[in-house]
Amino acid sequence: MAFDIDMIKKVYANIPGRVDKARELVGRPLTLAEKILYSHLWDGMPEKVYARGRDYVDFAPDRVACQDATAQMALLQFMHAGKPTVAVPTTVHCDHLIQAKVGAEADLKRANQTSNEVFDFLESVSNKYGIGFWKPGAGIIHQVVLENYAFPGGMMIGTDSHTVNAGGLGMVAIGVGGADAVDVMAGMAWELKFPKLIGVRLTGKLSGWTAPKDVILKVADILTVKGGTGAIIEYFGEGATSMSCTGKGTICNMGAEVGATTSTFGYDDSMDRYLRATGRADVADEARKIAPYLTADPEAYANPEAYFDQLIEIDLSTLEPHLNGPFTPDLATPISKMREAARENDWPLRVEYGLIGSCTNSSYEDISRAASLAKQVADKKLKTKANFTITPGSEQVRYTIERDGFIDTFNHIGATVFANACGPCIGMWDRYGDNASTGPRNTIVHSFNRNFAKRADGNPNTLAFVGSPELVTAIAIAGRLDFNPITDTLINEDGEEVKLDEPRGYELPPEGFAVEDAGYVAPKEDGSSVEVKVAPDSERLQLLDPFEPIRPESLLGMRLLIKAYGKCTTDHISMAGPWLRFRGHLDNIANNTLIGAVNAFNKKTNFVKNQLTGEYGGVPDTQRAYKKAGIRTLVVGDHNYGEGSSREHAAMQPRHLGVAAVLVKSFARIHETNLKKQGMLALTFAREEDYDLIREDDTFNFLDIDSFAPDRPLTIEVVHSDGSKDTIMANHSYNDTQIQWFREGSALNLIKKENA
Ligand code: SF4
Repeated sequence: MAFDIDMIKKVYANIPGRVDKARELVGRPLTLAEKILYSHLWDGMPEKVYARGRDYVDFAPDRVACQDATAQMALLQFMHAGKPTVAVPTTVHCDHLIQAKVGAEADLKRANQTSNEVFDFLESVSNKYGIGFWKPGAGIIHQVVLENYAFPGGMMIGTDSHTVNAGGLGMVAIGVGGADAVDVMAGMAWELKFPKLIGVRLTGKLSGWTAPKDVILKVADILTVKGGTGAIIEYFGEGATSMSCTGKGTICNMGAEVGATTSTFGYDDSMDRYLRATGRADVADEARKIAPYLTADPEAYANPEAYFDQLIEIDLSTLEPHLNGPFTPDLATPISKMREAARENDWPLRVEYGLIGSCTNSSYEDISRAASLAKQVADKKLKTKANFTITPGSEQVRYTIERDGFIDTFNHIGATVFANACGPCIGMWDRYGDNASTGPRNTIVHSFNRNFAKRADGNPNTLAFVGSPELVTAIAIAGRLDFNPITDTLINEDGEEVKLDEPRGYELPPEGFAVEDAGYVAPKEDGSSVEVKVAPDSERLQLLDPFEPIRPESLLGMRLLIKAYGKCTTDHISMAGPWLRFRGHLDNIANNTLIGAVNAFNKKTNFVKNQLTGEYGGVPDTQRAYKKAGIRTLVVGDHNYGEGSSREHAAMQPRHLGVAAVLVKSFARIHETNLKKQGMLALTFAREEDYDLIREDDTFNFLDIDSFAPDRPLTIEVVHSDGSKDTIMANHSYNDTQIQWFREGSALNLIKKENA
C-alpha cells in the first residue's frame, strides 16, 4: 500500500462544505492556508474566527510520518498510550542512522549491522500497530512522503522539522515532536496556535542558473532564521505556477530554516503532473474535481495585503543564484558578490567538497540539471577540483537516475554516491574518523538545508555554504567558492578558457519513474500477536518510565545550570552525528545534554560551574550532580532558543536529568511545545534585558507557581550570591490543557489518565 486513496477521497468529500462554511464565518475570501486549517478542525466550525498568532486550535491531521531517529522515542511513548493500532495512516522511515563513508552499498550494509537492533525494533512496532515501514535504503522521509503520500489540501504532521517539504504538493505539513505525533496516532486532537500568514508573491520566471533553491535562500535573507516563526508561508503568483512541484518542495523544505510553521503552494498543473508521474493519477483526478478549493480564492492573491500579515515580493526573472552561510542558513550572498564577501570575511576560497542531494534537493529535475554540468567536465576537457558526493532522496529517484545514465555521468567526475539517506546532512558523514573536532579550517558547499557548525562533518572549523545543486556542482568543478558560473571561465586541460553552459534538465523523467524494490514493508492486518522486544541491557533502546510531575516546592532554591550565550539550536542541546545512535535510550543520550551550548560566563562549551562544589565541569555531569542532590535547575537562553529540529530529545533529556524550567528571550515554536509536552516550564523574559541580570551563582524561587494560569506571567525571585535579589517576570504561552500537562508531569501522563 503506497497511499490510501479512500482516505484522500474522504478528506476531499469534506473540504468543499467546510471551506464554504469557513468563508461564511470569516466573512471574506480565504487563503489556501486558511482553507486547509479550517477544513481540518477537530471540533468542526467554531463560533468565532480564530485569532492568528493567539488562539490555540485543535486539528485533525490526515497522516503522520516519523523518521528513525525520532520515531524511536515517539513509538516508545506510543506504546504507553494503550492503543491497539494507530488512528491515522502513519509511516516510519529509516534514513537518519546510515553513516556515509565509502558509498551506498557498503555504508548500507554497515548500518544494517550497527543499527540492526533499532531497525528491528522500529519494524516490529510498526508491524504491531499498523504502521507502514520504509526500510533502510528506501529513502529520506520527506522525499518518500512527497513521492507517495503528500496530497493537495491535506494536513500532515511528522516528527522531523522538514516535514514541511510536503507543502510542495499543496499540503499543510508540519514538523512536530514525537509527543505530538503520539497524540494523533492515539486518535486525539493535535493542538497548534492558529498561525499568522506570510504571503510571498513570485513574479517573473526562473531561468539559467537560478533555481527554486535560490527563492528560499532569498526568503531566508529577508526573514532571517526566526522571521517565519508562528507563521505559514504561502507562495503564489506566476512564478509559483511556472515552477515544478519538486522545486516547490525545495522551497517549502527550507521554510524550516526561517522558523515557519510550514509553507505551501496552491494546487496547479505542476502538482497534477507530479502526482501522475509518481503513480497517483487517481489522486490527481480527485484533486481536479475540487481544484478551486485547493488554492486560495482569487481575491486573496489579487489583493494580498488585505489577507496576509506580511507580504514579500520576489521577481524570479532578476533573482540571482545565492550561497547562504557559513554557520547559519540566512546569511545570503548573491554569487556575484561572493568574491568580495569571501575576501572581507576571510572564508577559505578552496572548496574541499561539493555535496548534492538530501531531502531538500534530490528530485529528478535537480539531479538532471546537475548532471548536465557534470557532463561538460569531459566535453570541455575539465577536471573536477573538489570532491563530489550525491545522496539521492529515494530509491525511486536513485533507480531512475541510474537507468537514465546520470549516475554514470557523475561517476566520470569521480563522484561518490552515498546511500539514499540523510548521511552528511545530519552529521552522519565519516569524513575525519574520530578526529572531526580538530579538523582544519575548510570550505564545503552543499545543496542541503542546514549549515550550523559541525552539522555535516562534526568539524567546528568547516564552513558550509548552502546552494542549489547546479551551483554546488559548478563550484565543485571549479573548486573555488568565489566561482561565478554566469561570468567566470575555467582553464581546461589544453590550457583553453572555457565556460560552463547553463544547466539543463527535465522536470520529470521522460521515460517515467522506475524502481525495483522501493523498500516499503506493509504492516500485518492484525498485529496483536507481534512481540516487541527491548533488551534490558541495550545501550540503544530503553523503555520509558513516566516523568514525575515537578512539585511546586522544588521550584524554590533552584540553581542555574547554564546561561546559554547566542545561538542555541536543538543541535546544541542534543547533538546529532555520533549521538544519533542513542536516540532510543534516554539515559544514554542525556550524556550529550547542552554540550554544544556556549556558557555566557566563560564563552566555553560544556564547561559550567557546579554551585554545590564550586568546580567547573561538563553540563550533563553537573546536572546529574544536582539531580543526585535533589535540586531542580533552570536553563537560561537567548533568542530563538531550540531553533532547528523537532527532536524532542532536546526537551526530554533536560527533563530526565532534572531541569525544571527554561527561561529565554524567545523560543522556536516546536521546541517550546516539546518542553510543555514533557511537563516542563517554557518561559520567556517579560523584559529581555533581564537576561543580563542572571549571574553564575544565582538561585531561583518561583513565587507564584501555585496560581499558574493562562495569560498570567510568573514571578521569579533571583537570589544572587552576594545576597542581593532581583524579581523578574516570566511570560508564557500555556493554555489550560498545557498547564494540565505540567501538573500531571507530561502530556502523555494526561493521555494515559484520560484513557484509563
Ligand atoms: Fe535528513 Fe537532512 Fe532532510 Fe533532515 S534535512 S530529513 S537530516 S536529509
